[in-house]
Amino acid sequence: MPRPYNRRMPVRPIVRLGHPALRTSCEPVPPERIGSAEVEQVVTDLVDTLRASGGSGLAAPEIGVAWQIFVFDSELRGDPRPLRVVLNPLLEPHTGEMVYDWEGCLSIPELVGLVPRHPSVRLWGKGRDGAALDLELSGLAGRLVQHEYDHLHGIVFLDRMRDLRSLSYMAEWEALVAGEEHAAVG
Ligand SMILES: [Zn+2]
Repeated sequence: MPRPYNRRMPVRPIVRLGHPALRTSCEPVPPERIGSAEVEQVVTDLVDTLRASGGSGLAAPEIGVAWQIFVFDSELRGDPRPLRVVLNPLLEPHTGEMVYDWEGCLSIPELVGLVPRHPSVRLWGKGRDGAALDLELSGLAGRLVQHEYDHLHGIVFLDRMRDLRSLSYMAEWEALVAGEEHAAVG
């Protein structure tokens, strides 16, 4: 669904399904390069591109960079909503029944589908400044980080769907199916 976003153009185009970057496993950022101008530029580009996109999460391979970096909405409120930057993440699902909800992808525009995800996860990694992150995430944030983490390993949400019959164009879904529901677009 349309969300408020600024009108700056993305500084890098978001690559779409078919681009090999989306099917490649990304390399960790070497620790000594965290905070370097090169890595800072990638992070800034990810933040600016996500803010301009209307999505809630974006991974480096979606702008053609094969490093383990993603950004996501850390809160659901605020305009612009605060974003969290994660480098070199490790993700551990908590046990529990998989939860189905609607998901879309900035690299697979216009499509949404029901995707099973772990109800909550623990996420380790580094922040933009190299500080250790250790987060417990559930709900939308938990779903988003599972989506973005998959991108770092060449996986897209279509691969996670168990039944393609829910796959829908966003416009039809919003008009005929969604009601008050929102899709997590990452
Ligand atoms: Zn995506």
